[in-house]
Amino acid sequence: IIIIVSAVKNVTNLLIKLTLDKNQEYYDKIIEIHQKVVNQIEIEKFDFTKLYQYYEELDLSNEQSKNNLISQGEYMSSKLLHQYLADDNISLVNAKNIIKNVDNKYVCNKNTIINQKNKVIITQGFVEEKNNQIDLLSRGGSDTSGSIIAVELQAERYEIWTDVNGIYSADPNKIKNAKLIQNISYKLSQELSAMGAKVLHPFCILPCENAKIPIIIKNTFDNNLQNTLITNTNNKENN
Ligand code: ASP
Ligand code: MG
Repeated sequence: IIIIVSAVKNVTNLLIKLTLDKNQEYYDKIIEIHQKVVNQIEIEKFDFTKLYQYYEELDLSNEQSKNNLISQGEYMSSKLLHQYLADDNISLVNAKNIIKNVDNKYVCNKNTIINQKNKVIITQGFVEEKNNQIDLLSRGGSDTSGSIIAVELQAERYEIWTDVNGIYSADPNKIKNAKLIQNISYKLSQELSAMGAKVLHPFCILPCENAKIPIIIKNTFDNNLQNTLITNTNNKENN
């Protein structure tokens, strides 16, 4: 089981704001958001040193310096989860050692995963390595991190845990009667995300389609609800 974590809600937006305008208000807000989680999950203490360091040395004209700071969203959320679970059988693995950008192609280093003694791994979405430095996928890229890893491991299934039950016939936040689509083909889900359905990053579907890995969308806030299964379904799509 590989758990790929994206940043805590709103944190990436704030980090990006910081890289445009080094305003301490944004930094303080990021600390506040995480501190709230720390309190909620009752972990003893959380180390913000790296965030502080990248913030202090932030150079608005240097892309690497900005990437380092933005990646802290995922480094912090994955560390929070790892500390919260506090289980010696779960490893926290740096995504830099898993996904590499080689000539603008993403290469997944399966051995980093296989060589872990633990069978449950937490890693960061969105983060990868390019020329030995931290590099980032595009916005919403954790979905793509997940699909790259799922394909490389020939996973049985790829679950995306998000804040809605699945793919809807329309934006459920705007249209009250939007209906959940329970079974959908890779092709149609691809079209919907290309057209702006925000639930999935458009790049994450094709690799799973080619590798025949089913994608299941689940609601983090209620696992018992109906959800969407994306496969190579021949069934008539039940929208
Ligand atoms: N945290 C990143 C973003 O907000 C990646 C992701 O959420 O998938 O774009
Ligand atoms: Mg996301």
